[in-house]
Amino acid sequence: MEDKVIVDGLTFVPYLRREEIQKQVSRVAAELRHDLEGKNPLFLCVLNGAFIFAADLIREAGLNDASISFVRYSSYAGLQTTGKVKQLIGLSESLEGRDVVIVEDIVDTGLTAVQMIQDLKKLNPNSVRFVTLLHKPESSKTGFQPDYVAFTIPPKFIIGYGLDLDGKVRNLKDIYVIEE
Ligand code: IMP
Repeated sequence: MEDKVIVDGLTFVPYLRREEIQKQVSRVAAELRHDLEGKNPLFLCVLNGAFIFAADLIREAGLNDASISFVRYSSYAGLQTTGKVKQLIGLSESLEGRDVVIVEDIVDTGLTAVQMIQDLKKLNPNSVRFVTLLHKPESSKTGFQPDYVAFTIPPKFIIGYGLDLDGKVRNLKDIYVIEE
């Protein structure tokens, strides 16, 4: 682990070591295995941030009948003056009757999560579960509580293990927090 990481002139310091991340990913994977054994769930990895977490999580979960697909939110300026409208893209398979597991990197305000669950439920899945690597409950604007959480953290900006600043540093094996 590096002592500090500088990105775009901002300094980040160590926060969660790779061993601790692996431990919590294994715990969440065991919970998923317990809850989904005997089913053929569809994991939906939310790009870009969740790709590293999802890769570790589904390998740990060991559910051989599970499939994985990748989605993302495209944000574009809407016609209304209310600002941005987000649209879920990348979903190619039917969700009819499936046990869906959304895999996210971080829940901050919870707005993305709430919208995604609402959008997916319209496609008649059997169930929708939500797993996140990180949850910042103090930033919540929705009261949304994910079903599975690896780490609950304070509302500080973090990077690494898939999380970016300006598209960079997703590659870091450990998680770093902005220096105060
Ligand atoms: P929200 O829960 O709808 O506010 O949005 C969550 C999204 O905000 C995540 O998927 C990330 O892309 C981004 N995000 C929130 N907090 C952080 C952070 O600390 N580091 C990097 N990205 C973040």
